[in-house]
Amino acid sequence: MTISKRIALAFGALVLLVAAAAVALLVARANVYRFDALVVDDTPNVPGEGINLQWLGNTNVLVSDGTTAVLTDGWFTRPSTLRILFGKIEPDGGAIEAALRRAGILRLAAVVPVHSHFDHAMDAPVVARRTGAVLLGSASTANIGRGVGLPEEQIVVAEPRRAYDFGAFRVTLIPSHHFVFPYLDIGSGEPQQITKPLVPPARVTDYAEGGSYAVLIEHPLGKVLVQGSAGFLPKSLAGIDVDAIVLGVGGIAGQTAAYQRDYWTHVVDAVRPEAIYPAHWDSFTHALGDKPEPPNIFWDRVFGLRTEDSIHYALERGGDKVHLLPMWRAVPVKHRR
Ligand SMILES: [Zn+2]
Repeated sequence: MTISKRIALAFGALVLLVAAAAVALLVARANVYRFDALVVDDTPNVPGEGINLQWLGNTNVLVSDGTTAVLTDGWFTRPSTLRILFGKIEPDGGAIEAALRRAGILRLAAVVPVHSHFDHAMDAPVVARRTGAVLLGSASTANIGRGVGLPEEQIVVAEPRRAYDFGAFRVTLIPSHHFVFPYLDIGSGEPQQITKPLVPPARVTDYAEGGSYAVLIEHPLGKVLVQGSAGFLPKSLAGIDVDAIVLGVGGIAGQTAAYQRDYWTHVVDAVRPEAIYPAHWDSFTHALGDKPEPPNIFWDRVFGLRTEDSIHYALERGGDKVHLLPMWRAVPVKHRR
């Protein structure tokens, strides 16, 4: 064989190898099925008896008393990995419609993104428009609303720590911090803002964080805290007690032991919940199905979500208070089993 043929063969083999590795990254998944036994199996409260939680993937949490309902995030579009990395993204009307129908959502009082990154706030104004809800969030989130033409009457820029009433619910956005990715420039430094209406399609990086919040949802029959991103501000949650916390854990396993300890101390210990529900660990890129989809190996390992270890982080510290929420199905805030 001539030298040039050998080089061509070697090059061909290298290309195949790289292609196979890329496919493996996008197709192989983290294994979360070992946590199946942790999924809450309980019948929802009837109206007047208590409030219910319904988890719709990521940190989409519907809280309802049977009369009024409030939804955090409302993110149902799942762009592909390649589109997130190299293309432009926009709300998927069909996916949003299908998710609202499956969750049984007709009317909402408020849609409340925990921050304005695409995987929380991109679809929120579309959900608000379809359900008559108010979009309650940061000034950046308001600009995502304006970019899709949501009327100003439906946009409220939340004053941090001010309580907003919706029926018997009281919703407060408490300043928090984004998760700090150890090897990526996400979550460190001052949060970037979206300063003018953001018209989709847009790049993922156009959906700037705009400040992160813990969303406190209070009702005479129960209290929930939705901590979307695994970040914290020391003492920010002091004096607040809740029945349940929906706890963002995505990436937490990749942080230092000190960060992991501080996150638990300043968020979970601070609010003394009876139930702890890890969230924000499922895939960004798979269409919503019957069950939460684990992320592919690219997001899990390269990006660093570390799904299995991040759920395990919560289990290790929270013990038998830790449960996973089922997809779509309403469960009582204070579940019985
Ligand atoms: Zn984020």
